[in-house]
Amino acid sequence: MHATEIYLDANATTPVMAEARAAALEAMADAFGNPSSVHGTGLKARAVMGAVRACARRVLGAPSGRLLFVSGATEGIQTAVLSALAALRARADRGEAMPGLVLYGATEHKAVPEAIQHWCRLLRLDLQALAIPVGRDGRHDLDWLRRHAPRAGLVCTMAANNETGVVSDLDGIQAALAGSPALWMVDSVQALGKLPLRLGERPIDYAPFSGHKLYAPKGIGMLYVRDGAPLTPLIAGGGQEDALRSGTENMPGIAALGAVLGLCESGTRFQPHAALQAHRQRLVDALREAFDGIVFNADPALSLPTTINFSVPQLGSRVLLDLFDAASIRVSSGSACGATKAAPSDVLSAMGLEAWRCASAVRLSFGPLADAALIDDACERIRRCGAALRDSCMTSVPQGARAGVDLLTRHVVDGAVCYLVADEASRRCVVIDPLDELAESLGQWMRCRGFTLAAVLGTHPQAGLAPASAALWQAVGAAAPAAAAVDALGWPVGEPALTLGTRCLRRLGLPGTAQDRAAYLLADGHGVQAAFVGREAMPAALQGQVDRHTLLLPAHDPEGCYARLPDAAGADLAAAPTAVELPPHALMARAAAGRPLLLVDVREPYEHRLGQLPVVGPGVQRQAVPLPALLNALPQWLALDADTELVLFCRSGNRSAQAARALRRLGQARAWSLAGGLALWPAQPRPFDRAAD
Ligand code: PLP
Repeated sequence: MHATEIYLDANATTPVMAEARAAALEAMADAFGNPSSVHGTGLKARAVMGAVRACARRVLGAPSGRLLFVSGATEGIQTAVLSALAALRARADRGEAMPGLVLYGATEHKAVPEAIQHWCRLLRLDLQALAIPVGRDGRHDLDWLRRHAPRAGLVCTMAANNETGVVSDLDGIQAALAGSPALWMVDSVQALGKLPLRLGERPIDYAPFSGHKLYAPKGIGMLYVRDGAPLTPLIAGGGQEDALRSGTENMPGIAALGAVLGLCESGTRFQPHAALQAHRQRLVDALREAFDGIVFNADPALSLPTTINFSVPQLGSRVLLDLFDAASIRVSSGSACGATKAAPSDVLSAMGLEAWRCASAVRLSFGPLADAALIDDACERIRRCGAALRDSCMTSVPQGARAGVDLLTRHVVDGAVCYLVADEASRRCVVIDPLDELAESLGQWMRCRGFTLAAVLGTHPQAGLAPASAALWQAVGAAAPAAAAVDALGWPVGEPALTLGTRCLRRLGLPGTAQDRAAYLLADGHGVQAAFVGREAMPAALQGQVDRHTLLLPAHDPEGCYARLPDAAGADLAAAPTAVELPPHALMARAAAGRPLLLVDVREPYEHRLGQLPVVGPGVQRQAVPLPALLNALPQWLALDADTELVLFCRSGNRSAQAARALRRLGQARAWSLAGGLALWPAQPRPFDRAAD
């Protein structure tokens, strides 16, 4: 692994800067008073709070109005929405005329629409919440807003977007709201320290902020409320903050935020706008060099200089995140990621960008502390990420793969499995149960490595077979066999076997089914290694054709079994083994005790290339087997001696847990997944960890 990580995910959160840490420590150790106490210790704390608030007023350009210390932007948003809606509730209770709409930008942070829904429900307000559409540039549709504003009671428009960095046209929004009865909230989280806000110069009613987006700790934020705007306390209690936000104040957080705001005001520590723009340009140049066909999802002229959102054709955001993480560059997908599939970004979808761009978006963001050395280092690593992809034939301009080729790889789309059988010596390959979605990437794989496609076979008739097969032949730039030369499943008519170097593939017709189906047996001089069995676990026709070590490979594998063995082909798969996770400290304890261990990296080759394997201890065996090529290693792992434990790892522990569960199902009871993956390695035992078992 790289010695240092480069953190480029500042829009998610930032480290706490030294000055803020010092201020927080001081507030915890020496100036630890409760600002409500009337003795000297308390008065000192109260003075700190007053000074920080005054500084915040200057930085935000808010000489009047309230500035409450809250726990973060989510609380600020709740308070603002509650206050606006409670005022509407009161109007409704008095029987006054009511606006019927609440409007929020279609690209707002989830906290905004969720808060609107929540408080409308609790206050029993029958208002219609409508998303203000945005254009392809991510900016609000001002005509739409102008038309709807007269009927709105609350309008929420963020100052700058967290995913794309797009800066809202606050002047245009202000003009569109002229004459509207609506209260106006501007979520200013991403603008703090990056844009001049001058809150007091606009009719903004509420502006929430979060300290941890600008080098202060988590748990501190601010809410600006214009003089005269309704304000309902979200938290009632001891009467702090003039009874508008009760609870003993978070003094370490306030002091730390004060340190950051003080540096914003002095202009001595944060990079000026022009320097940040230059940083962004250098990162953009490095990204263009690294990723062929890259597109940027926001216009730099309309965005914060600290945010870059991009997509790369043919590369999902998951692949890109794994790649960056392997190079120890921390970025995030532009979307919320499920464990197995990236959900397309709502923000980019709202902008009307194509589905592939929404599904493969990556966000790279830095803070105003970023200096030229950090950007140099990031650019160099980004270029290495591009080279690792090209070396692994993952781009359309490959350099030619350097590594050897795995005989069997499996590729899964929504539970359907496609197999690539590739013989390195003859450079011939066969694809079994092709899937349309994979045609381009498999074609690229073959072209890049100089493989010829010998056949595309199906195990069972299905509508998608012919188009997926045609797409694959096209992707490798070869003519598909004439219809008369192959059977309905793609097998060359009259051929007893397809040879792949020293191996051969035989077709086994599966009689007794309504439509023709087939299994394919892959054999070498030692026996049948694998049987591609289609949709049946163990077709009867296979009896006597396979031995007990033959891997039965399904065309559909939603449970993630990978393979079955003939003796257990009928086993119930419903009960998946769950306890496969080995905590890092338990792995260390085993290594220290000299227990025999085989440590397997299941990440992709482009990830191996970018980082070193973890050091666990002397005598620990290591292997690198990417998850799609796991089938090749199964026979060896199933035959491991009885003492050796198999510990699989990946970036976060998801892929290795999948593999460990598959191994357990196949009978390898000593298969483990390193909990938390490389992200939590090397591990220092923490006070709240259980002792190694
Ligand atoms: N608004 C925006 C634009 C944000 O980026 C975030 C955090 O990601 C929030 C609100 C919520 O902030 P917090 O989670 O700190 O309360």
